[in-house]
Amino acid sequence: METTTLEQIAGQIKKCTLCPLAQGRTHAVPGEGNPHAELLFIGEGPGQKEDESGRPFVGAAGKFLEQMLTAINLKREDVFISNVVKCRPPDNRDPLPNEVETCTTHYLFKQVELINPKLIITLGRHSMHRFLPEEFKISEVHGKPFRRHGRVYLPLYHPAAALYTGSMRPLQIKDMQRVPLILKKLKNQAS
Ligand code: URA
Repeated sequence: METTTLEQIAGQIKKCTLCPLAQGRTHAVPGEGNPHAELLFIGEGPGQKEDESGRPFVGAAGKFLEQMLTAINLKREDVFISNVVKCRPPDNRDPLPNEVETCTTHYLFKQVELINPKLIITLGRHSMHRFLPEEFKISEVHGKPFRRHGRVYLPLYHPAAALYTGSMRPLQIKDMQRVPLILKKLKNQAS
């Protein structure tokens, strides 16, 4: 069987017309980073800057995500960064359930399989609910890893939370600083 590559998936996403979000986009945002990353970060969907550039997390939230990565000595090129939906919802509204369903089944889940990360870090509620559909409250589960269907997920607050509520920053950095230990434990379990 022919295997699809991440580049081929990105090409499909750029041409995608499977949901109405395609009509409003300037650029689709397939995601980017290290194709062999141990860490896969999954946000909600592109905002204005991402729609303009075709790249994930390049606006203010992206700056804070980079600061969170710096706190564990990583750069954005070391990880893979993607989103639940690949096209910007109008006026930054929440993505609708059918948009999330279509985009994740056609694209995100395939990206997950190909990258095969050790840890999937969901950013914000929407991303968390796609993978951990129990009615978790992010305020109760942020920073705690969960194993589901052979993969490990770590829900974190969305980096944009720190832009609205500056006092969230230290907590978000602290949650991110749990990542190296979680990874180390996962590697020990595997060996
Ligand atoms: N917020 C997201 O959830 N994703 C991005 O790519 C940018 C901002």
